[in-house]
Amino acid sequence: MTQVRSAPVDGRVRTDVGAPAGAIDAAAVAAALAERGVRIVLGTVVDMAGVTRAKAVPVNRLEAFVHVGMGASPSWNVFCVDFGVAFTPELGVVGDLRLRLDPARLTIVDDGVAWAPAAFHHQDGSPFAGCARSRLEQMVARVRAAGVDPSTGPELEFVLVEPDGSARSGPRWQGYGVRTVLDVAGFLTDVQARFADAGVPIDQLHAEYGADQFEISLAPADALLTADRTVLARILIGRAAARYGLGVSFSPVPFAGGAGNGAHLHLSLADAGGPLLSGSTGSYGMTPTGEAAVAGIVAGLPQVQAVLAGSVLSPLRLTPGNWAGAFACWGLENREAAVRFCAATPGNPHGASVELKCIDGSANPYLAATALLGLALDGIEQELPLPPEVTVDPATLPQPQRERLALAASQTAALDALQSSPLARSILGESIIDATLAVRRYEHATYGDADPQDVAAVYRLAFSC
Ligand code: GLU
Ligand code: MG
Repeated sequence: MTQVRSAPVDGRVRTDVGAPAGAIDAAAVAAALAERGVRIVLGTVVDMAGVTRAKAVPVNRLEAFVHVGMGASPSWNVFCVDFGVAFTPELGVVGDLRLRLDPARLTIVDDGVAWAPAAFHHQDGSPFAGCARSRLEQMVARVRAAGVDPSTGPELEFVLVEPDGSARSGPRWQGYGVRTVLDVAGFLTDVQARFADAGVPIDQLHAEYGADQFEISLAPADALLTADRTVLARILIGRAAARYGLGVSFSPVPFAGGAGNGAHLHLSLADAGGPLLSGSTGSYGMTPTGEAAVAGIVAGLPQVQAVLAGSVLSPLRLTPGNWAGAFACWGLENREAAVRFCAATPGNPHGASVELKCIDGSANPYLAATALLGLALDGIEQELPLPPEVTVDPATLPQPQRERLALAASQTAALDALQSSPLARSILGESIIDATLAVRRYEHATYGDADPQDVAAVYRLAFSC
């Protein structure tokens, strides 16, 4: 039985052909999509460089995309931002995988085009260990098996550029300015309509601090749904921008010397008794389990930094003073701490959360969420004690303390920490770690000594969809 929801808002974009959970009749869904003008179905995966890749099929091949899968070389996982391929012994020119589409997420994203996320499988149908989406799905199951229900809420920062990637308005910009919003009101209202049609709930959309920079934050949801929505949101923002003759950069550093794009991720936790980050007797009402989860995140951050902000450009953003969270510490509403605690107050209707600020737009959203949940789970399992809160800008702390808390200032140091971390390997798996290291070390070898302005140009549109 196929369910077709939501009428066109204005006839331009027809979205949200949803299918009921559970057994899905792909042939019936394909027929419903075709009835609504869909000709092509796109299935996406995000690689270790943070780039979203796709296979497309005619709509009448939907069933095969779901059940058989479409071919993809294992080396898809080690594609780089610039057409390079960082082959590993496991991920080379021999072998073949299948991308299987998740039909429960099908959404019409443009005239004649529907989208859904896909996951890598072997040809025999078994899951591929290097698949980022499957890894997150498994991590969510592990956290649930521990009796904890996680939700995540993403903040997407991006910079509007000319379609060729060149800068738009420069000095005319006003951070958080009203004129800057009204100047692109057509684009923003188009974005709002597309998100509403797609069933993606926007909490806020506003002009950010950097030139031509905006932020869209989404309501909290299941962590896998949030990661899928992050990809969908990038697609919808990209389609709206294209209609207005604009390009979009999600790069950590769109222009060297300019503001960075974060991809902050809020995490809230609950168990059968209710929320774990509020309503109890610990710091700001945290339960013992909630405190242990936050402790796990803070303690493990340096080991997964290369998954959260691992590109060759990332260190340029992840420095003190950028509100990017360059210190592995936590604090109530502390925008310079990597872990900003947002307490449950009347001004915070979603309830308490921790916001992981150090994630940037080059991160694979599935792996960033896997790492965040994995660290929280490790803290819970080990009953780690909550470290002291940092209640000031960490950059103002005495030098020894400041240096102890600072995240790695170089890509190589972050990669070395990932490579030597048994915890990171247990959270992300050997295959994903090895592929990540191969891709990011390729970036270092290729661009580590280059002029940051030139590197920023290479990366500027790499994470756009
Ligand atoms: N753009 C900043 C970053 O790179 C974040 C600003 C904010 O706190 O919203 O993470
Ligand atoms: Mg922001």
